[in-house]
Amino acid sequence: MSFLEYKELIEDGDTAIVFLGHDYMFPVTIQHGSQTQTKYGVIRHSTDLIGKPYGSKVTCSKGGWVHILYPTPELWTVNLPHRTQILYSTDISMITMMLELKPGSVVCESGTGSGSLSHAIIRTVAPTGHLYTVEFHQQRAEKAMEEFRQHKVDHLVTVKNQDVCKNGFGVSHIADAVFLDIPSPWEAIGHAKDALKIEGGRICSFSPCIEQVQRTCLALEEHGFTEINTLEILLRIYDVRTVTMQIPDFGKATEDEGSSESGDTAKQIPASQPSSAMFKSGISPKESVGHTGYLTFATKSLF
Ligand code: SAH
Repeated sequence: MSFLEYKELIEDGDTAIVFLGHDYMFPVTIQHGSQTQTKYGVIRHSTDLIGKPYGSKVTCSKGGWVHILYPTPELWTVNLPHRTQILYSTDISMITMMLELKPGSVVCESGTGSGSLSHAIIRTVAPTGHLYTVEFHQQRAEKAMEEFRQHKVDHLVTVKNQDVCKNGFGVSHIADAVFLDIPSPWEAIGHAKDALKIEGGRICSFSPCIEQVQRTCLALEEHGFTEINTLEILLRIYDVRTVTMQIPDFGKATEDEGSSESGDTAKQIPASQPSSAMFKSGISPKESVGHTGYLTFATKSLF
């Protein structure tokens, strides 16, 4: 199993996603002899999972069923064990696009955190690019390395356990893009500039507070970055629901009033007409996710 490609059958050692519904799924490591509890009963890895195709509907011991999905960076982002705040697909898509990431790109990132963004970057730059990710919290750096190994993407990523503000990214003039998700990004802009290729590249910094953004923009300007832009992305999701709506009572219509060309629209409303109607509609949930953070983008240019 590798996050970089698809394979058909579930094997011992794989990471798989147990899917009970769109808002209820979790990751498992497949192991001979092991079993996983769900609200529908137990799944036995040796008999129920190993050798079955990904996407299979698996019946649990209490008769309910789940689907077993092949992991992708999108699914990992909503299933990974949180060790920090993480970036979600909405921001990640914008970051990937605006940093102009593609297969072969070399990217520097800090901090690694829970590896949500890292997995997405790695898939985008594969098979020939590389991610250098810097995390100063030792356990987080080690856990990220362990997950990259398990997901068979470790050849595309180097994890460094150091303070990016003091020691930088440990590489110079090789990066096409730099991404920062740390509390004081302005302290790392000089190191970001050193990491970027001589001929230029793109940078992005994620910060939840506008004061952090202001300091970062000033630092970017001082270091000669151009095209400095900050934006915030707000996601609105619509659920399809059956809703009931009252039919308004416009009073009685008579035969002679308001007759149309066909002459059949001005009829008296029959007493039997229902007072409400049910139909399907797209509804935005009352509570939607609000502000996550500001994304500041800039370009290191030759001139
Ligand atoms: N973008 C990540 C989450 C990053 S959370 C994701 O999507 O999963 C921020 C991380 O930055 C934390 O793990 C924190 O330990 C790390 N960090 C903060 N300051 C740092 C610094 N100066 N050098 C390196 N890592 C730092």
